[in-house]
Amino acid sequence: MNAKILEIFQSIQGEGKYVGVRQVFVRFFECNMHCVWCDTPASIGDTTRNYKEFSLEEVFQQIQKQWRDCHSVSLTGGEPLLQKDFIKELLPLMKKARMLAYLETNGILPESLEDIVDDLDIIAMDIKMPSSTKQKSYWKEHEKFLKIALAKDVFIKAVVSGDTEKSDMIKTIELVSNIDPTLHFIIQPNTFELKNGVMKKCLEFHDYSLKYLPNARVMPQMHKFMRIR
Ligand code: SF4
Repeated sequence: MNAKILEIFQSIQGEGKYVGVRQVFVRFFECNMHCVWCDTPASIGDTTRNYKEFSLEEVFQQIQKQWRDCHSVSLTGGEPLLQKDFIKELLPLMKKARMLAYLETNGILPESLEDIVDDLDIIAMDIKMPSSTKQKSYWKEHEKFLKIALAKDVFIKAVVSGDTEKSDMIKTIELVSNIDPTLHFIIQPNTFELKNGVMKKCLEFHDYSLKYLPNARVMPQMHKFMRIR
């Protein structure tokens, strides 16, 4: 079985609960969403298709080559769960080598998650607010996904843009707090709009979040500040 891969590299995790840890990143090609502010447009597959096909052995060899005492392997994209069958074969190899499996996902494919969740360690799950992404809403999918992800170390990330409506943030907070109010909830300003007052909006949303989610935090994409990928 082959996977469509954009790149495999080592870097520092720049988002969410595990900011600052060193990881091997496996960036899978293609996505089932088209968020208007996507920071990895080459991974969506609309305009460029510069991926390479790698066999399971080749991907695992690359991971081993880049590992050098990393914290975990980030399976990212694009949307990695689109290549769930490949990941299902990769995870036992990683487990045997004592590498933690960290999934970065848009959180809309619950059935795919269910199939591999046992072999995952950490799940960085996005909640995609429609006013922010300019895509349709996925509340039901997100709810189902989070309930499955709870079996592991899961945290939530919600990107706030200048267009994000408070009603969407309220729905997001309700969804998370109804399932587990102790979860880490990261409000992430859209990097491309940091100068356009989006931080003010994030701080307002943070004030509101803290009433229901004590582990709510505001955090930008730190790797952009460090000027690393
Ligand atoms: S889900 Fe992620 S990779 Fe896909 S379009 Fe949105 S931001 Fe880009």
